Amino acid sequence: MEPGALSDFIERYPRLFVLTGAGCSTDSGIPDYRDADGGWKRAQPVTLQAFMSNPLTRRRYWARSLVGWQRFGHAAPNATHYALARLGQRGHVERLVTQNVDRLHQAAGSTDAIDLHGRMDLVRCMECWRLQPRSELQDELLSLNPSWAQLHARTAPDGDADLDGLDFEAFEVPPCSYCAGVLKPDVVFFGESVPKERVEMAMDHLQRADAMLVVGSSLMVYSGYRFAQAAATQGKPIAAVNLGRTRADDLLALKIAQPCAQALSFLLEDAAVCA
Ligand SMILES: [Zn+2]
Repeated sequence: MEPGALSDFIERYPRLFVLTGAGCSTDSGIPDYRDADGGWKRAQPVTLQAFMSNPLTRRRYWARSLVGWQRFGHAAPNATHYALARLGQRGHVERLVTQNVDRLHQAAGSTDAIDLHGRMDLVRCMECWRLQPRSELQDELLSLNPSWAQLHARTAPDGDADLDGLDFEAFEVPPCSYCAGVLKPDVVFFGESVPKERVEMAMDHLQRADAMLVVGSSLMVYSGYRFAQAAATQGKPIAAVNLGRTRADDLLALKIAQPCAQALSFLLEDAAVCA
C-alpha cells in the first residue's frame, strides 16, 4: 500500500458509506473481541436466549456490567473518532454506520451516526419497551449491591468486565419500575437480529454512496458483512482500514493494515492546515 492511497480513494469517491467497528475504540480503552485472524480473543458474549431465559445469567451479566461500566461509561473519543467526524464535516460521508455501542462517534461530532447494534448508554424493558439511561440503572445497581462497587476487574468489550468465580446468586438486579419486566441493555445481543428498519435505513445510504470505507472492523459478524456484500453487488469499491484479516478481504479495492488512528491521521492534519 502506497502512502496517500486512502487519501486518493477518498478524493476519487467523495460520498462514502462508512462502517466502523471495535478497532476504532481500542485507543479509548475499550477492548475488542477478535484477534488478527478474526477469531475470538475470549469467551463468546452472552446470547439473547441465555439472557432472557436464565435469571442467573442476568445476575452475572449485570454484576460484570456494574464493574465494567465504571470505566466504559467514562470512555472518551480518540483520534479515529475525530478524524471520521472531520471527514463528515468535509462532506465526504453519506452516512456513518457503527457496530460499536459506545456512542464515541457522536461524542466526537458525528451527530447522525447510525448505531447498528444499539446503544450501551440506554436500558430497555423487554415487556413495556420503556427506555431509561444506563447511568440511572447503574445508581440502582450500586445501591442494591454496594460491596460489588469495590471490585476491580480487567475491562472487557461492550462495557463488560472479566469477573468470575463469584457468587452471582447474591447479586440483585432490579426489574422495570413500571411493569416489573426484564431490563436489558438497548444493544443487539449475539443471537438477536438488528431491527429491520435500521438495516433498511443504512442500506438506503449505501445505495446513495459511491464507495464504502470500513474502519476497524473484521466484518466477521454478518450484520456488518452484509453491507460489504451489498456494496460489491452494486459495483461500489470498498476500502478497509483494519490491522487483521477481514471477512471481506477478497472484495476490497484497498486494504490498509494499520492502526485506525495512524491510517486516518492525514484527515486531522488537513484540519490543522485549514484552521
Ligand atoms: Zn416495563
